[in-house]
Parts: sequence; C-alpha cells; structure tokens
Amino acid sequence: MKILSVNAGSSSLKFTLIEMPEKVTIASGLFEKIGIEGSFYTIKYNGEKITKEVPMEDHSVAVQKLMDELIELNIISSFDEIEGVGHRLVHGGPDFTKTVILTDEVIEKLTENIDLAPLHNPGSITGMKAFMKVLPNVVQTVVFDTAFHSTMKETEYLYPVPYEWYEKYKVRKYGFHGTSHRFINKTISEYFERNDLKIISCHIGNGGSVTAIDSGKVVDTSMGFTPLAGIMMGTRSGDIDPSILEYVSKKTGESLSELTNDLNKKSGLLGVSGVSSDSRDVETAAEEGNERAILAQEIYARKIANYIAMYNNLLNGADVICLTAGVGENSKKMRKMIIEHIASLGVKIDDARNDCRGEFRLISAENSKIPVYVVPTNEELMIAIDTMELAQKKN
Ligand code: AMP
Repeated sequence: MKILSVNAGSSSLKFTLIEMPEKVTIASGLFEKIGIEGSFYTIKYNGEKITKEVPMEDHSVAVQKLMDELIELNIISSFDEIEGVGHRLVHGGPDFTKTVILTDEVIEKLTENIDLAPLHNPGSITGMKAFMKVLPNVVQTVVFDTAFHSTMKETEYLYPVPYEWYEKYKVRKYGFHGTSHRFINKTISEYFERNDLKIISCHIGNGGSVTAIDSGKVVDTSMGFTPLAGIMMGTRSGDIDPSILEYVSKKTGESLSELTNDLNKKSGLLGVSGVSSDSRDVETAAEEGNERAILAQEIYARKIANYIAMYNNLLNGADVICLTAGVGENSKKMRKMIIEHIASLGVKIDDARNDCRGEFRLISAENSKIPVYVVPTNEELMIAIDTMELAQKKN
C-alpha cells in the first residue's frame, strides 16, 4: 500500500511517498513559496529530479499539483492507489497522546489550541484541509511531535512557576521531536530484542533535543513548552535565564516578540560563532582557527553532554545512548566532542568505529560503560507506519 507522509508549513509542503509495509521510498519532494510569488516544486523519483515553477495560490493547489504530477510521472496510475496520508504536526497540546485519524473534530480541537504553536500549527492545518479536499475518501492521520512525550510525569513536565499558568494557560513542558525519538526507541529496542531498555536518545540536527526513555516511555526531554528550550541548537539558544529578555529589552528597545525571535533565529551556533547555523560551516571555520567557531562548538558539545549526564542520573543508569539527525548521524567531530565530555560516566569512543556517516553503527569502545550507537532517524517512515496501522484497522 502507498502512503504519503506529509509535513506542511505555512508556505511549504514536504512529502514522501512510501510503499508499505516494504518501507521503500517511491518519491519525495518539496513545494515551496505556496501563496507567495515565485512558487515552485521539486519532485525526486527513480533517481531523477524535476523542478517546476508554477503559481500556487494556496495549499489545495499544491496538493492537486502533487497528485497530478504523481500520475503524469507514472508514479501512480490513479488517486485510489494512495491508501493513507499521514500529517506531521509539531504541537498536539495536552489532548493528543497518540496518532489519530484526521476528522473535522480533530481539526476543530487543533484550531482551539493554535496559540500553543502559532508558528508551526497553522501551516500544517492548512495542509490537512487541502488533502481532505483533494483526497476526501483516503484515511488520513495526524502524527504529533509532542505525543511520545505524553508519558512524562508532573514532576518532569511542570515548571516551578505560578500554578495558575498551568491550570489556566496550559503552560507546561510538552517536548518535541517525539516522532524521531519514538523511531529511535523502536529501532534500538528491535535491535536488542528488548522492550525494557533505558535509552538516552539525542536528536541533534538543526533543531536538537535529548530524551530519556525507560521501557518505551519518555521520562523527560530537553525541549519544553516550545522547541526553544533545552540544548543549544543551530539558531536556537536552548535554556537561558529568562531575565535576560527584560534586561536586553531595556537596553535595545526591542519588544518581547522581537527578542524571542532573536532567541529562535539568531542564537545557537549562529549566534555564538557569527559564522553560520550550519554545523558544517562552523566546523570548517573552527578548523581554520576561528575562535568564536571553536567556542560555539565547545558550548554545543557541553550542553548536550550535560543533558546526557542528567538523564543518566534520572534513569538510574542508561543502557544505551543513541545519536541521530543531521549532526548526530554525520559529524564524527561533534560526536567525539560530546562523548569526551561524558567521560565521567565511563563512556569511551572508538575512533575507528566513529569514522562513519549516516549508518546504524556502534561507535563506543568495547570497554565503554554505556554503548553509544549512531541510529539514523526516519520520521517520514514512522508517520507511514502509524498511518498504515490505522488505515488497516479502519478497513
Ligand atoms: P537536520 O535538521 O537533522 O536536517 O540536520 C541539519 C544539520 O546537520 C545541519 O547543521 C548540518 O550542517 C548538519 N550536517 C549534515 N551533514 C553533516 C556533516 N557531514 N557534518 C557535520 N554536520 C552535518
């Protein structure tokens, strides 16, 4: 069965068409600048890539274009071949604890909670509505980035702030990247043929989060009420003292939302290095002796290492540490730096094993107290698996 895994943003729509249960990617692509001048799309299939510039005034037009292209490129012969569409949603709020079938009621509930994720959810909801319009008879699901973290206890998800903020405004830790952490948990648990593992899953990409998992359940995670919290990221600050905002605001006259934007878009690797948010550029600059790039890498590695050490304590000793996403899967230098900073846990790297990119591999030394694995993530596949399971249940 063919499943479309969809990730829609306010002006973009990313898709992967996957043959299930074989888990084979048939095609993938990106529609960009939807509703903006100069809209275009790229579709990759069969080792080929096409790019077309076409006006797309809204997401429905983009979805229609996508379906028409799939037919024209002979990827499918009719719309009926698509047996499920899974939509990624960043924020499910407190009500959604697992993947659900998309209905009008679900859209309504998501719309009620839209101010929990004003940057991310509106675009995704627009994408869902567009697919419901173009493919009204196909099973569609919503896969929430927050859902996997719903097993956290109050002791972890409550902030020590006035309790009414939680009661009245739903202020609490939600956690993100849940689909990726769930995929890592599934992959490593299947590999060890155990469902009682204590795992520290480190998703280190442009965004980043560390999650403590015990027997398939999240105990704690580094992102918070929004994806701004936790470790240092490409452009996000991660945890900082909140008083900085008022102080800088008084100095610069910037508003709270301008400063929050600075923390989201101008901080992290970019902010400290002044070079780039891309860890490859920062790595190159550091190799060339750029001191701020060297400093940015050092802070980045330490923040991640500190979370790993904290979660090792919380789990009362982890069984395995997993590194994933762009940096975790590809940067041997950053992996080595992180592991060197958790030497106190008895974790040791094996340089020869660490000499790899984008593959499932043990990279810690034989005598490392906790094994460390690189585990490539695949959020699109996780979405397709959920959608296949729900579509099969429904039929
Ligand atoms: P993601 O958000 O998971 O796509 O990850 C994006 C991040 O992965 C960017 O900072 C990239 O620079 C980083 N990345 C990708 N490939 C490499 C690589 N070979 N070495 C270092 N960083 C990489």
